[in-house]
Parts: sequence; structure tokens; C-alpha cells
Amino acid sequence: MIRQFVPQEVCLSCRGCCRFSAVDSVWVPCLLEEDIQELLDRDIPPALLSLNKKIRPVPNPQQEGFICAFFDIETNKCKIYDFRPFECQLYPFLINLRNNKVLLTVDLNCPYAKDKLNTPEFKQYSDYLIAYLNTPRQLRMLKDNPQVIQAYEEVSEIIEFKLDNEDA
Ligand code: SF4
Repeated sequence: MIRQFVPQEVCLSCRGCCRFSAVDSVWVPCLLEEDIQELLDRDIPPALLSLNKKIRPVPNPQQEGFICAFFDIETNKCKIYDFRPFECQLYPFLINLRNNKVLLTVDLNCPYAKDKLNTPEFKQYSDYLIAYLNTPRQLRMLKDNPQVIQAYEEVSEIIEFKLDNEDA
């Protein structure tokens, strides 16, 4: 599991994540091959996963739009938190494709991350995440799962990954 940057109590009091304006939103979490296997091993119905290796959103029962199929909108909690997918563990950090570069970025739509940008706390966590991801094993994982490398907007760049450096 990736260590969390945003404190849990902050996440639980926010109404941003796990909700999507459209079924095909770029923000719908993409799944690694190992995420898919883990979910299937835990008897998650395959119908909740889409063919393009994403979670399949369901209509939001409270308002327009969609929510993650694993999101409990009453409690504002993830029902599969202990084995949530890689992208959900990583958030508000993202693997971004921009100008043919693979970047680690942070989503400026996350109020906590935006507020902490340029603080020692942010730098310390970024260093941890870079060290975690910038290893041959993790770079190979990214290369094998191009679906998690997406063109997100409204992000701040942190570092470029050189996927060809991985020791495959
Ligand atoms: S799997 Fe959990 S953390 Fe990820 S989008 Fe769904 S409810 Fe949110």
C-alpha cells in the first residue's frame, strides 16, 4: 500500500473524490492488471469493471452524475478501502502523459494538496513517492499498464519518469 498524503479525516469531510460528471470521465480510476486480479479474487462482480480496465461508474443516487461502484455515498467512504486500486492509493498524485512525457503530477482540484503545495510536508511526501515509484519494478509496472498514464488537466508537475530506464 502507498502511504497516504491527505489525512483520512480531511478526505472524509470532503465531497470531491469518487464522483464523476460522466461515465467516460478521465477521473474514473483505471486498473492495473494486478488490481483487476485482486478484485476478481475477492469476488467483486466482473460487471463492475469495464472492458477498458476501469471501474464502471454507477448513477449517483443523490444528484446528477455518477459515482464509483465501490463508493458508499451515505458514509462518504470507500467500500474496498483496504484493497483499493493503485490509482486510488496514489491520489491526489497522478501518473500523467504530457508532450510524450510520463510525469508524476498532483491534482490541484484536491484542496488539501493545493494548500500544501510548496510546503516541507509536500516535499517530504513527494520525495517518498518518487523513491517508491522510481524503481525498476514500479517503472516496469507503469510500462505494462499504459492505461494508468493519462492526460489529466489542472495538475502541477513533480518529476518525469523515464520508463525506458526500467530494468525489464
Ligand atoms: S475504489 Fe474506492 S477510493 Fe477508488 S474511486 Fe472507488 S470508492 Fe473511491
